[in-house]
Amino acid sequence: MKSLWNHYRYLILRRVTQLGLLFLYFGANAWGWTMLQGNLSSSIILNVVPMSDPYAALQMLAAGAILATDLLVGVAVVTFFYFIIGGRAFCSWVCPINMVTDFAAFVRELIGMNKLTGVKQPASRNLRYWVLGLSLVISAIMGVTAFEFISPISMLHRGIIFGMGFGWMAVLVIFLFDLFVLKNGWCGHICPLGGFYSILGKFSLIRVHHSEENCTLCMKCKVVCPENQVLYMVGKESLPVLSGECTNCARCIEVCDDDALNFSIRSMAQNKKMGE
Ligand code: SF4
Ligand code: SF4
Repeated sequence: MKSLWNHYRYLILRRVTQLGLLFLYFGANAWGWTMLQGNLSSSIILNVVPMSDPYAALQMLAAGAILATDLLVGVAVVTFFYFIIGGRAFCSWVCPINMVTDFAAFVRELIGMNKLTGVKQPASRNLRYWVLGLSLVISAIMGVTAFEFISPISMLHRGIIFGMGFGWMAVLVIFLFDLFVLKNGWCGHICPLGGFYSILGKFSLIRVHHSEENCTLCMKCKVVCPENQVLYMVGKESLPVLSGECTNCARCIEVCDDDALNFSIRSMAQNKKMGE
């Protein structure tokens, strides 16, 4: 059996990161800190390094805006960062909505909703890519950044930093939707930002790797994984998780008592093998 720390270390580190970043943004607004100023769409570290959400920039482009140089540099910084550490690491290590949806998944399990509705997902996980495409089409037609207007991620993030208005309603709707309607409903099926980072994540270097030799087929990893379709190789063969839909949350690594899952660096050899 693993110690409590080993069982929850990544979860604790993720929460510390998510809350720490929120605290830095809050400190910038409340006390003038310069460590991290702005919001999740556009921010700057120590007044030097710009960071911009590439999906928001895409919407701006679709809406017909000309992007300023510092915004383009910010997009390059963020894209490079997630190219290295895993595109959807944003979802499990940064996005504040992840804390809401993880909590909904926890309560859902606690009250037995999964047994009531079954674990089979009635909705396609590809829906998020359609929402992503639609948001760009609407941005182009209406000349506005469509998702940014209604994004619950921005509502929650800005709400925590600048004060919450009706943003709570959007967050509550997502919580209730995930709890009672669809397991991992928002992040696993609908959110276009998660969809965008899934595409980016296809190419990123840090991957979870499954070792079939160590696996005892307990399937704990598949139970905790919010995107368990990416663990299709468990019980079959030793492979890295190459789907961009993996959030690099590391819950699968933590719950595995047999050391069958670990982080690894994607190698060219692995890419070649997968391409064969
Ligand atoms: S899927 Fe969307 S809301 Fe969920 S964690 Fe990722 S960016 Fe945030
Ligand atoms: S495979 Fe592991 S790291 Fe990836 S989403 Fe599932 S639990 Fe998280």
